[in-house]
Amino acid sequence: MDGHTHKPAEENVLFGIPASSGIVIGKAYVLDRHMICVLEHILHEDELDAEIDRFHSAVDQLRAELSELAETARSESEMDIPTLIFDAHIQILNDPLMLKEVQGIIESKSCNAEWALKSLLEKYQASFSKIKDQYFRERLNDIEQVITRIQRRLIQGETVSLASLTEPVIIVSHDLSPADTIQLNPAKVIGFAIDVGGKTSHAGIIASSMDIPAVVGLKTLSQRVRSGDPIIVDGNLGEVVHMPAKDQFLKYTKRRQRYLYFDQELHAQKHLAATTIDGEKVKVLANIESSQDLAHLSEHGAEGVGLYRTEYLFIHRTKWPDEEEQFEDYKKVAQSVAPHCAIIRTLDIGGDKLATGGDYFEVEPNPALGLRAIRYCLSKPEVFRTQLRAILRASAFGKLKIMYPLITMPEELIHANYILGEVKGELNAQGHLFDKDIEVGIMIETPSSVIIADELAKHCSFFSIGTNDLIQYTMAIDRMNERVAYLYQPLSPTILRMLSQTMSAAAKAGLSVSVCGKMSGDPISAFLLMGMGSVRELSMDVHSIPRMKKFIRSISVADAREVARQALTMSAAEDIKHFVTAHLRKAAPDAVAAGFAYSAE
Ligand code: PEP
Ligand code: MG
Repeated sequence: MDGHTHKPAEENVLFGIPASSGIVIGKAYVLDRHMICVLEHILHEDELDAEIDRFHSAVDQLRAELSELAETARSESEMDIPTLIFDAHIQILNDPLMLKEVQGIIESKSCNAEWALKSLLEKYQASFSKIKDQYFRERLNDIEQVITRIQRRLIQGETVSLASLTEPVIIVSHDLSPADTIQLNPAKVIGFAIDVGGKTSHAGIIASSMDIPAVVGLKTLSQRVRSGDPIIVDGNLGEVVHMPAKDQFLKYTKRRQRYLYFDQELHAQKHLAATTIDGEKVKVLANIESSQDLAHLSEHGAEGVGLYRTEYLFIHRTKWPDEEEQFEDYKKVAQSVAPHCAIIRTLDIGGDKLATGGDYFEVEPNPALGLRAIRYCLSKPEVFRTQLRAILRASAFGKLKIMYPLITMPEELIHANYILGEVKGELNAQGHLFDKDIEVGIMIETPSSVIIADELAKHCSFFSIGTNDLIQYTMAIDRMNERVAYLYQPLSPTILRMLSQTMSAAAKAGLSVSVCGKMSGDPISAFLLMGMGSVRELSMDVHSIPRMKKFIRSISVADAREVARQALTMSAAEDIKHFVTAHLRKAAPDAVAAGFAYSAE
């Protein structure tokens, strides 16, 4: 369900895109784009002078610091140009009007300097947005940077470390990068409400792997909420209530209790196998983003790891992990999943998963279509080889498989396999132990790989369908962009045909197919996937596993086949959704209870 189908009933209820299930009620903690949380403090009249002094001394310190930086840059460079930016910032700091305005806000609102700066910035943002000339509009960036620098000084140079929060909060933010999300302290962050992002954006992926309810695509929420405001996040339906009234509070508390009750019931049955009523066993595996996630596998009844997104080992690092560090990490994965298997996906860096640090990256105008994933690895063979060596060495300690992301044509796969062959030879010569017959598979996540699946099948032993990217690239929509999220429709006939075509190619070639995109954790989609071909492995975020296992136990593959056959003849996603839902309500009420309880009113 997405935000476009709702009509807001109450002014303080916002509809976004559900990105991680669960319902939380708590206090907002608003982060700005620069990861600063500015809080308002009301001051006594006799504190105002000291506050104004504090503001001026922060400005003086910053001015001195910028002058010094400009001097150093000037002496290091031949030209003056690179230092102009510092000069521009110093000029803003020297602007008497700005200084007077801040001082005026401190006095009139009796507030702290950080808050006064925030109010001033909001005022500037509003007036700059009316300026037609783009050049002048862009000058706002400089002002923003200067104001942020002063605020940072005032709050003792600290940007917010999400790791150091002291009380449980719901993070409200315009955006949240994978790097920010990765440092979260899950004990203190109980929910997310984010302005941007689509259903499969990485903030959502991380939130669900940490079992933190999240709603994304809320557009302007972060502008209307203040830190400390009461807020409700319903990650099942994608709803956020700002400053709930008493009846809303009661409504969502009830909803939350019902959700927790279902969750408990599901957990009691999580170790039961996912065998359909007509006896087909479906393996339900976990997607993980870090070896720390391994701790949650057995508590959710996962039967192995169907996707390890290894790029998270590389994000938010100044120095990328070397072979030894990667080896230890993959070895831990191999050992902990035993007797099951883990699929290690090679580095899928780029796109929305940009690395910080290292000198590996150049900024690209269009990263989703750029040097991402396997393309990047093939262009940096030393990075790729190091990872392959580490995975192979770890394969001596448990059952591992290798999977390449974003393959678009056979040449890439052949090239990657060639490097793998070389690395194997090297390890052999060095006397390392490894699984010589390690299985190699590919992600099917581009239209090109679907079309050429029969050829690709000749060079690998399994396919794993990455529906998140497959939908992005097929529908030509940025999966991070909430403005085109309405086109993200897993049940659209286009996508269903793509999936069906992939499965036919795999079946002809005798290859196994699994699905590891978000569709595998959605009951209606999973039902169709099982009916369309021989998918008997679904990999999903760990928290969806108990629910999906119960769902699978309530359906039959024979039935799924018939429904999928009919669905494939239909021409609109909405019709397909209604058709399958209505069918399941009649044919498998238990499945409906398990699968849809999270969204039931
Ligand atoms: C996918 O694209 O469906 C997938 C599972 O990979 P990721 O979400 O990491 O791009
Ligand atoms: Mg992908």
